[in-house]
Amino acid sequence: MKSYDNTVSLYRVNIERGKGALLYDKSGREYIDFLAGVAVNLFGHGDRDIIKAARGQMQKYIHCSRLFYNPNREKLAKQITENSFGSAVYFANSGAEASEVAIKTARKWGRLRKSGAYEIVTMKKSFHGRTIAALTATGQKKFHKNFGPMLGGFKYAEFNNIKDLDKKTGKKTAAIMLEPIQAEGGVNMPAPGYLKEAARLCKKKNILLIADEVQSGLGRTGEIFAYKGYKIRPDIMTLGKGLGGGFPLSAVVVSPKTAGVLGAGGHGTTMGGNPVACAAGNVVFKKLKKKFFLKQIEEKGKYLMIGLKSLNSPLVKEIRGKGLIVGVQVKTEAKKIAEKALRKGLVINAPQPDVIRIVPPLIITKEHIDRGISVLSAVFSETEKENKAG
Ligand SMILES: *Cc1c(COP(=O)(O)O)cnc(C)c1O
Repeated sequence: MKSYDNTVSLYRVNIERGKGALLYDKSGREYIDFLAGVAVNLFGHGDRDIIKAARGQMQKYIHCSRLFYNPNREKLAKQITENSFGSAVYFANSGAEASEVAIKTARKWGRLRKSGAYEIVTMKKSFHGRTIAALTATGQKKFHKNFGPMLGGFKYAEFNNIKDLDKKTGKKTAAIMLEPIQAEGGVNMPAPGYLKEAARLCKKKNILLIADEVQSGLGRTGEIFAYKGYKIRPDIMTLGKGLGGGFPLSAVVVSPKTAGVLGAGGHGTTMGGNPVACAAGNVVFKKLKKKFFLKQIEEKGKYLMIGLKSLNSPLVKEIRGKGLIVGVQVKTEAKKIAEKALRKGLVINAPQPDVIRIVPPLIITKEHIDRGISVLSAVFSETEKENKAG
């Protein structure tokens, strides 16, 4: 497959279509989707409202540049700011690009409004995307390998260690950038009180707090944005993945403190805030805001967690998560677990060598959760036997 180059190891399945939390390959075989295109398809596959909205805009025009006003984009910006701390939204195309914009905003803010401060402190085990600044922000050495020199002006603090964060921040620090829940790093949860203390430290030292909610945002944790559940208030937030209902779309949400800092010409993108993607994004928000929708995510998350715990496998070291983002730390090769699950009709992945991640569509039913868990149960028993046989 030449189009993929060699940057991913492809799953050897040809998916032809999807419906809700189910996928079907060419032979008609059914798969339970516990991955949702990596936390993208919040409303599963084939959502009629998303299709209708996108089609409606496509019939008017697909693209006309950011130079022109577009009502879909304005409406989405309004939905995002009305439901968050934000006063303005900058639209881009991917999570990595949103990270770039957040970093540029923080640097410019520091240069102009904090005596030239430029440093960004991020967390070890974090993930912020693959472009060079976003990659530098990503606190995992394995992703930096052979791409050096990385960008200057970054420091890394231990996640959940407030003393380390205090030590690494000072007059030169423009921003602290973190994921409320570290997703790609293995679904690492914030320790009780940690995010609040980090936010307090930012206030005390006049440092911007950037929350990367590309994966944790938009209902994933049972909150519309994860930061709300931890009772903090960032200065900048990035969104992506599910924002465009499956179309490429990301956003940088800024508070009044940093709104306007980038300024005209301060950044640009040809495709950012594409009207078709924004039309789909408006449906995403409308659905997230439906009564009880967020509540049922919390309930289904608990149901999933209980199901996973009941597996009682000696191969499971820890299960952690919130709402419908769950990581299972295993004492065996996580990638092999994911491969075996796929063969048995369940899609999951392994963001770390010892962690499998579950981020299903938010509309998944209890019945499909049960089916996914029974596949995992079979995979774990099989693996236990194999490991015993050596
Ligand atoms: C996926 C992800 C990104 C990068 O998004 P892309 O669209 O792949 O560039 C950034 N931050 C977090 C937290 C993510 O999960």
